[in-house]
Amino acid sequence: MRALIEELCSVFGPSGDEALIRELIGQHLTELVDEIRTDRLGNLIAVRRPTAGNGDGKRIMLAAHMDEIGVMVTHVDAQGFCRFTTIGGVSTNTLIGSRVQFANGVEGAFGMEGSPLSRERPTPQKLFLDVGAKSKEDAAVQIGDTAVFRSSFGAVGDRLFAANLDDRIGCAILIQTLRELESSPHEILAVFTVQEEVGTRGAATAGYGLEPEVVVAIDVTATGDFPEATPMEVALGKGPAIKIMDRRMIVHPKVRGWLENAAKANDIPYQLEVLEFGTTDASAVQISRAGVPAGTVSIPCRYIHTPSQVADLNDARQAVSLLAHALGGEFA
Ligand SMILES: [Zn+2]
Repeated sequence: MRALIEELCSVFGPSGDEALIRELIGQHLTELVDEIRTDRLGNLIAVRRPTAGNGDGKRIMLAAHMDEIGVMVTHVDAQGFCRFTTIGGVSTNTLIGSRVQFANGVEGAFGMEGSPLSRERPTPQKLFLDVGAKSKEDAAVQIGDTAVFRSSFGAVGDRLFAANLDDRIGCAILIQTLRELESSPHEILAVFTVQEEVGTRGAATAGYGLEPEVVVAIDVTATGDFPEATPMEVALGKGPAIKIMDRRMIVHPKVRGWLENAAKANDIPYQLEVLEFGTTDASAVQISRAGVPAGTVSIPCRYIHTPSQVADLNDARQAVSLLAHALGGEFA
């Protein structure tokens, strides 16, 4: 599974430009599902029809987002330096010293106006992107081009380091769940969504179109397990987190109970999550049409939305086990 996560993390896919990562995920799914299609907004929808039970299963949507945060060029000056805007929740504090990569392979380093010894906080207005150009004409990027954060994928034991574990680790978990799930009474709608980082847009339209009876998102969540962290009952290595609430969703008690029961019945370690900021694709589907019972399986992840995110491989493996057991049994 580590190899799958690493492979998914290596592919370009900022919000709105998910074609490459969609193609790769599609290749992994062909043997695993009955039907695959891409919808009008770019969501990849893989359907597996029920293989057990007597027709009393649910239509269950599982959502993991393919897109990642990044930057977009807004202006190239005469010397070839680029001004930019952010795509998704990028903290400008983390930019100096980090590297981005464009779809055409061009690298970019961030610089800031003024003295290198300045203690000034970086603001978007003071920052620029050096794309190796000697002039505007020489620049291999133009207005509207997007880039993603790139640092080499790393691992220390079971701890994984990458710029985009959010949410490629969730995509890997969804693929691996389909591999390990032998039979299910449910119709499974595995959706790899677009544009989550700019406001759960792909999930909103996919949820409307698919009309699921239950939705579960698979995404990363914050932790409270590092020095001076804001208190939060989620830590790396203690199992996947079953969400109770985030900023835009209160998990349906039946969905939470279904997931918790699957964990307990199969001795899968898990944590409970209350996240005081942010949300997932599940929140957009929850309020689609006449409403959909919604929940989230979260992967604890440190330094989310920075170019160096850290998660634990065991949490991802146990998330697969939790989802496979839940989907293999009755809902509720
Ligand atoms: Zn995410």
